[in-house]
Amino acid sequence: MFMRYEGRAWEERFLPRLTSKQIREMDKEKALVILPVGAVEQHGPHLPVMTDTLIAEATLTQALDKADRDAGLWLLPPVSYGKSNEHIGMPGTISLSAATLQGVIMDIARSLVASGFHKLLLFNTHGGNTDLLNVVAREIRIETGMTVFSLSPSTLADVSDLISAEELEYGIHGGDYETSIVKAVKPGWVKDEWAVKDIPDMSDYRFLTIEGKIRFAWRTPDISESGVCGDATLASEEKGRIIQERVTDCLAQAFTELCSFSVSDVRDKKAQV
Ligand SMILES: [Zn+2]
Repeated sequence: MFMRYEGRAWEERFLPRLTSKQIREMDKEKALVILPVGAVEQHGPHLPVMTDTLIAEATLTQALDKADRDAGLWLLPPVSYGKSNEHIGMPGTISLSAATLQGVIMDIARSLVASGFHKLLLFNTHGGNTDLLNVVAREIRIETGMTVFSLSPSTLADVSDLISAEELEYGIHGGDYETSIVKAVKPGWVKDEWAVKDIPDMSDYRFLTIEGKIRFAWRTPDISESGVCGDATLASEEKGRIIQERVTDCLAQAFTELCSFSVSDVRDKKAQV
């Protein structure tokens, strides 16, 4: 369960809660600004279209509660809309084009540099954003010199004892994993009676997968009737709570590492060996 604008993340670490004077005077040497990037898009019949942005905010709210208080972590309001054109035409989907999303994130990065910040984390909770964010991260690095990180929290913790192997492979949208998390962070926001199992059948193919090493470009209607890719009927609030505990434990530790990381060390340390 999480409350927006309540708790340490929002009271102590939410950057726009500060005044310009406070931001000017703060120590920015190791400060890490965290930009959540989510999506507003169909998530099957049972989940809110806000799911990805909701998960980003909930996860950061919980992770910042556990993180080192002195680490210099600063949370920005999320970029709530993502690149969701794979779902376009399915009601509730509001997508930015790749060029627009790239432009928005580049502009935010340029503004952060102009405010004196050096480090940015692109915190992504929508699979359809991942490829673009990796491109944008490098563009920011090249144009501004900022140190830029990108991560998707769902990749951080081992949940293989909670989520089946089939679900880990194919449950990429509105399945057990995401549904369990929404049940845990916003009880009452999931329409249990409309949860479905809808898994694409790739059993005839040896090399081709949905999100694996050899992929085909797909629109959601190509692979799913319901808009779900996975098995939402397996989801539980308890599982979601455990997943969030593990993911936020990892994040709290990772944040410390990102704050102390310096790109120049990578080469300098090697040179000393
Ligand atoms: Zn999602």
